[in-house]
This record gives sequence, structure tokens and C-alpha cells, in this order.
Amino acid sequence: MVRELTHFIGGAHVQGTSGRFGDVYDPSTGEVQARVPLASSAEVAEAIAVAEAAQIEWGDQNPQKRARVLLKFLDLVAKDLPHLARRLSSEHGKTIADSMGDIQRGVEVIEFAAGAPHLLKGEYTTGAGAGIDVYSMRQPLGVVAGITPFNFPAMIPLWKAGPALAAGNAFILKPSERDPSVPLRLAELFLEAGLPAGVLNVVNGDKEAVDAIVRDTRVKAVGFVGSTPIAQYIYATAAANGKRAQCFGGAKNHLVVMPDADLDQVADALVGAGYGSAGERCMAISVAVPVGAETADALAAKLAERVAHLRVGPALEEGFDYGPLVTAEAKARVERYIQLGVEQGATLLADGRGLAVPGHENGFYIGPTLFDHVTPDMDVYRDEIFGPVLIIVRADTYEDALRLASENPYGNGVSIFTRDGDAARDFSARVNIGMVGVNVPIPVPIAYHTFGGWKSSGFGDLNQHGPDAFRFYTKTKTVTSRWPSGIKEGASFVIPTMH
Ligand code: NAD
Repeated sequence: MVRELTHFIGGAHVQGTSGRFGDVYDPSTGEVQARVPLASSAEVAEAIAVAEAAQIEWGDQNPQKRARVLLKFLDLVAKDLPHLARRLSSEHGKTIADSMGDIQRGVEVIEFAAGAPHLLKGEYTTGAGAGIDVYSMRQPLGVVAGITPFNFPAMIPLWKAGPALAAGNAFILKPSERDPSVPLRLAELFLEAGLPAGVLNVVNGDKEAVDAIVRDTRVKAVGFVGSTPIAQYIYATAAANGKRAQCFGGAKNHLVVMPDADLDQVADALVGAGYGSAGERCMAISVAVPVGAETADALAAKLAERVAHLRVGPALEEGFDYGPLVTAEAKARVERYIQLGVEQGATLLADGRGLAVPGHENGFYIGPTLFDHVTPDMDVYRDEIFGPVLIIVRADTYEDALRLASENPYGNGVSIFTRDGDAARDFSARVNIGMVGVNVPIPVPIAYHTFGGWKSSGFGDLNQHGPDAFRFYTKTKTVTSRWPSGIKEGASFVIPTMH
């Protein structure tokens, strides 16, 4: 039976009225499992009005009481975890274990955001001049929004909503229309945890809903995560409409393999980071860069051996390393890239096309695909494929590897595997990329540091989660006061200085 989904506005499930719907698939079977309403501009405008009204009291609430709502929410998520993970896997296609990780990474940011009373404290200077004290405070922006991708339907909505709510804002979430059920459930749990109705609203939709959010001047900030062209579009449109924006885009993450690295450790790291979640992660490693021909030959052999044993199957069943891609279009797109790699002369060591999973023949599966001898002019190197395709680009020297990663237009994550501390330190300092791993294949920073890519992977200032999230979702007010009030200096017609 096809489930009918709703929006979640003003603390209640609300039917869509636009008459437009999107299909939500079960990627493991290829069947449509739900229909999601695609909001019209008018429905978005109504949700923003609801949020604006609810924000006033929530923003006035003391931060500790707001934090308690987050703490209660954590309890509810913990109780609902098996259900959340199954739903997430059934719409996204990642394994249950990986869905647990998706939720857990979001939970960790809520744990951090529950420290809002501390994080919102301002700064104070006493005696800045005669009787003059200067202090700053962080105030909520009002109504803010998050527009999020399909590949982390729990983690990224929580990265956005957690700090924004803790800071006293009301939030409009526009999750991906591919897997909207978990974001809807998270909104229910927030309500149950004591979040006042209307403070968190989930509006489902596509470009029409996104445009309505980004163009509405009542929305003061928008946090976006998705593909690079849309990130650029949202950044420009948000700025043109007077709002602050942080927009994170796609990626092409390299893993540099130094000749002294433990190649078994490297090969294990690469298959996990390259094929986990079918490669549908912005921090997936998609390019292995072995330094020197000997390293490359040995690594290619080890990878080919491991790839041959990877298990691909339905998301809800145990025993598989990864599941299907999210949609038939995503699968077709990845297959096109594999074909381009072959046509442009890369060596195909493992071909994942045509994989049939018994009993799930219509699922959107692609087996692990491995290319060697890829050169930087090939499409499989230039574009983000977002599928289970790992490519090897051979570098002659460490400097060549460093340059390759640094000059790539994307700048999300990068990693180096080596036993040489000098090389690791030099690489970390010089590489032109936002997040660096040293013997760590997926260097997603922990919740109390910040997450953000450079170049085409991120537009705007300030990163996600960590203290930056509170800076992004608040505005700073600075008060300069003079007490006692009796100090008299007469009229001054020059700009005051601390001379
Ligand atoms: P996407 O860009 O297709 O969609 C992201 C969001 O934008 C969705 O909510 C979608 O409804 C909306 N959207 C799509 N097309 C739009 C349009 N034309 N106008 C306005 N809004 C539009 O991305 P996706 O396929 O859901 O997610 C995968 C992408 O996200 C990959 O490129 C991946 O690298 C990237 N990603 C980046 C990060 C990061 O932190 N840098 C994290 C996760 C995913």
C-alpha cells in the first residue's frame, strides 16, 4: 500500500493542497512506497507565518529551558531508534547499521546544541573607558530554514535544526523529497519533547517550495546542503533576498597513499569509504591516489581482491556491505559514468553494472566498480559520480598527489595514509581542502568542531555544527554603556576613541 505523507506545520500533520506529489521509492525493491506532497508557494508562506508567530515566545524562553527540550528529544529518539533506522533504510537504501550511524551523527549535534546556555553567552569588557562597559549578546534571527539532501535524512536536518532551535529561532525544514519520512518523524518527536507547536515546521516539496523559502524576506537565514549547482543557486538567491546563507555542495574526495603506508589498512579504509552507503556520501572517498608505480600496482591488486567479495543487497536485510542507490535515475546516472570511463580509456578492474540481486531484480543496485589508470581529464575524475565507483589516479610523487587534490575544484574532504609524521603534517598544512584525515578515511569532524568544505563544496561563511552553527543562527548585538551616569565631559564632535 502506498502511504500518503503530509507536511508538519503548527504542530500537526497537514495535507498538501497543491495537487502535486512526488513518489518515494523503496530502492531495494524499486517499488513506490509513499507519495509526498510538493508544497506550493502559498503553503510555504503559510508555514512561515506560523513559524513567525511561534518564534516570539520561544525566542524569549530562557536558554536552559530550550536546552531541556533538546535533552528530552534525545530520550525520545533513543526509544524510537529501531523504527527510525528501518524507515530511513527503507526510503534511502542504506543498511540499517549505516542508518543508525546517520541518526547518531545527528544526535551528537543535538547533544552539543543542548549546551546552548553556555554557547550563547556573550563577551564582556568592564572599564573600557571611564565608567564604560562593553558587552555583547547573541540573539535569535527569527525564522530560519534548512534545505537538506537525500543522503543523510536524519543527520543533516538535525545539524541544522538543533543549533537553530536551541538559539531561539523557529525553523522551516525542507527535507529531500526522496526520503521525507524520517524528518517528519523527528518533527513529531520534537513536539512530544515539549517544543511548542509551530517552532519546527516541515514543508515537503521541490524547487517551488525551495524558491518560496529562499525568496521570502521573513526567513532570515538558510542553511543548504546538496549538489553544487543548487548550492550556488541558493547562495545567490538568498543573498539577493537579503538573507544570510551557508550552502554546502558536492565533493570529490581524494585519499593519498604514501609508499610507506600499510596497504592492507589502506585497502580496507578505501573499500569502506568508497563503497559504504553505495558511495552516496559527500565525504565518500572516490579517488585513490597512490604515490609511485609500486604502491599503485600493489594497491590496485589489494582493492580488486576486496571488491570481489563485497556483498550488495536489500537495505533491510542483514549481511550486506551496502544497498541500492536511491532512485532509478541515480542508478542510470552512475552507469553512464561507468560507460564514459570505459570509452575514455580507464582500466575497468571491476564492473558493477548489471548486478542482479535475487528476489530484488527491480531494485536500484550497482555492484562495486573500480577503475585504474584514470587521468584528470576523464569525466569519472572531473565529476562527482555519487555512486559505488572508486577510481585510481596514479601520482609519481608526493608533490603531484598534493597538487592533484589541491587543484580539484571541490574541496570537501581529503585524506593521507602514511607512517611519516613529516609528510602528514606538511600535507595537512598545505592541502587546499576544508577537512583533512590523517590515516582516517572519512574525516567528518565531531559535533563540537565544525564541518565545512572549501571551493565548490561550500559557499558562504561559517561551517555546520560546532560553535559556528550558533554564530550562523544568531545575530550579535553589542552594548556600550556608561555608569555611573554622572560623568560629564561636555559635547564632543569627534568620533569617540580609546585614546
Ligand atoms: P540536490 O541538490 O539534488 O537536492 C538538495 C536539496 O535541494 C533537496 O532538498 C532538493 O529538493 C532541493 N533541490 C533540488 N533541485 C532544486 C532546484 N532546482 N532548485 C531548488 N532546490 C532544489 O542534492 P541531493 O541529490 O539530494 O544530495 C546529494 C548531493 O548533496 C551530493 O552532491 C552530495 O555531495 C551533496 N552533499 C553535500 C554535503 C556537504 O556537507 N557538503 C553533505 C551531504 C550531501
